[in-house]
Amino acid sequence: MNLLLFDPSEREGDERVRIRGHRARHLREVFAASPGHVLPVGEIGGRLGTGTVLQVDGDDALLAVTLERDPPPRLPLVLVLALPRPKMLRRLLRAVAEFGVSDLVLINSERVEKSFWQSDLLGGAMLRDYCLAGAAQARDTRLPAIALRRRFRPFAEDELPALCAGRRALLAHPGATLPCPASPAGPLLLAIGPEAGFNTFEAGLLAAAGCTPVSLGPRTLRVETALVAGLGRLGAPGALA
Ligand code: SAM
Repeated sequence: MNLLLFDPSEREGDERVRIRGHRARHLREVFAASPGHVLPVGEIGGRLGTGTVLQVDGDDALLAVTLERDPPPRLPLVLVLALPRPKMLRRLLRAVAEFGVSDLVLINSERVEKSFWQSDLLGGAMLRDYCLAGAAQARDTRLPAIALRRRFRPFAEDELPALCAGRRALLAHPGATLPCPASPAGPLLLAIGPEAGFNTFEAGLLAAAGCTPVSLGPRTLRVETALVAGLGRLGAPGALA
């Protein structure tokens, strides 16, 4: 645990926080934490600092916290991602939060299996839990805002043009002639397709909405590799706000 994240609702007064469940067990069992143990903490959506364990007992721990610094800058990027299979989505959510992506839109595509939309993961709490794991890894307190769009065409025609306006909007597309830019300044949007790729009609609608097709190199990458390559390239220092 690089960072113990707590929710504002877990505060007990100005400087005390009571955590319960797996985080308290982790403190006890993995860190062998006892009163006086100091560790990095962060308030979800807020600041970072240090926590000193006051009590730890079973599934419950009380800490005194001091929050004195802001979290790292976010990557001002809307990631438009064709919904991947649930197992991959878990890993991608963590990576998206690790990179500090500000917004994630999970969309449908002809080549997204319908069953993926039935996954329990999309229920709400689990999406947040995987993002929290990524944020804790990266020592961040802020989570991406997540939206689900189950119909491709209304999203691409009615919503995407407004999302692209004022952003450098890119479609990661194998075979595109333009290379993906490195750390461009300003707000960004990156669209990544499903494992079998967007079909020609979908790629056309994304381009018509304002997304410029770009290449991440001559090799066709798996979605999760393309995502890390794209975010790594766009989010290198210089693109951060
Ligand atoms: N046969 C599919 C195609 O040609 O679109 C392959 C899809 S690829 C496995 C999955 C997604 O990762 C693509 O839709 C694209 O968004 C992204 N991707 C993979 N390799 C890429 C590359 N070299 N350049 C740009 N995007 C890439």
